[in-house]
Amino acid sequence: MLNKEILEKIKKLEPKLVEYRRDFHTYPEPAWKEFRTTSIIAEKLLELGYSVKMGHEVIKESEMMGVPGAAELEKHMVQAIGQGANHKLVEKMAGGLTGAVAELHCGDGPTIALRFDIDSNDIEESKEESHRPYREGFSSKNSKAMHACGHDGHAAIGLGIAEILAGMKDQLKGTIRLIFQPGEEGVRGARAMVAAGVADGVDYIIGGHIGFKAAHTGDFICGTGKFLATTKLDATFKGVPAHAGAAPQEGKNALLAAAAASLNLHAISRHGDGASRINVGVMEAGQGRNILPPNATIKLETRGENSEIDEYMVKESKRVIEAAAKMYDVDYHIETVGGTKSGESSMEMVRMLKGIAESMPQFTNVTEYTNFGAAEDYSHFMSVVQENGGLGTYYMLGADRAAGHHDDHFDFDESVLATGVEVNIRAVLNILSNNE
Ligand SMILES: [Zn+2]
Repeated sequence: MLNKEILEKIKKLEPKLVEYRRDFHTYPEPAWKEFRTTSIIAEKLLELGYSVKMGHEVIKESEMMGVPGAAELEKHMVQAIGQGANHKLVEKMAGGLTGAVAELHCGDGPTIALRFDIDSNDIEESKEESHRPYREGFSSKNSKAMHACGHDGHAAIGLGIAEILAGMKDQLKGTIRLIFQPGEEGVRGARAMVAAGVADGVDYIIGGHIGFKAAHTGDFICGTGKFLATTKLDATFKGVPAHAGAAPQEGKNALLAAAAASLNLHAISRHGDGASRINVGVMEAGQGRNILPPNATIKLETRGENSEIDEYMVKESKRVIEAAAKMYDVDYHIETVGGTKSGESSMEMVRMLKGIAESMPQFTNVTEYTNFGAAEDYSHFMSVVQENGGLGTYYMLGADRAAGHHDDHFDFDESVLATGVEVNIRAVLNILSNNE
């Protein structure tokens, strides 16, 4: 059980949690550009006595998806240093290898991982007086970047947990691994971290999100399932330009290949084992009215109720794209820019969290389980831990919100930060307590 002293410590931490959250909110960084965010987090963790891994130790470069170009990354590294990042730490992240993993060893025992996503969205934040972050002076200073999903809060909760746990070493038996994941938006980061071994040896994993289906302060959902597996693909077609009037027979039409591919992607047969989705969301092609279009790009995504169904959709998609390219005699290239496995919380852990939540007066509406029905690449971590014999769950931490997730007016009730710290500390203590 959590003693009074720790509860008081968490209470005292509250202003600091708000400060962290507002600092991250002011300097939001989208996927693979979380240089400042990671630097601030790593510095605090090192100060607290954690061993901290970064760069190639936590990200497998060949598994990174949807990475911005070198020049853009360079620009953001410079920006991050200008905004207070430690340049030595930023250097470790060259190439966009952002994110950090910290460990605290407290003797022999199981390993519990807590995962926090730290990236922002790439949208412009509202500059209206009615929007609190703007009114109170902590709205985004970075153009086309905003914490509109609450990951600023997740990062702050992670740091709060780190601080409390560091002072509880003698009460714990086992290892705590704190995973600060980049690139959740676009489901890009988890796969590269898992491939680097970040989920290895984990017996229990807990992740969560502020809001979503826990709509109000006081709500808590202990477990989530039916995370859809998803894959994000970019397909480019390369043909040959030609004068549309004088010599159309010399051209190879990439636009028509992309169009044929798009129509037939939407005609892929459904799968008998469960739900699937496909969407071609973007098509760009052509150069001018009188030129046979030599270039085309389509951006699509597939989803599946489970990983096998998504893999089926991806396999069929690749076949359709290849066939369309052949039909119009153009070259093609397919790049996977995002993706995650499906996921299902372990009921054993769901029930454990339920017991904890029901003992906390902050929660007035505790729900055992809900379907996610969307994608979140935490499910990649959770599936791998479960495949290796471990357990995992994903909670939703209710908070009153000013607007929906990914809205430029998004903001949330900051009292949820301390509550988020407490529920995680209680869970860690439940699993790693040494005085039973
Ligand atoms: Zn989110």
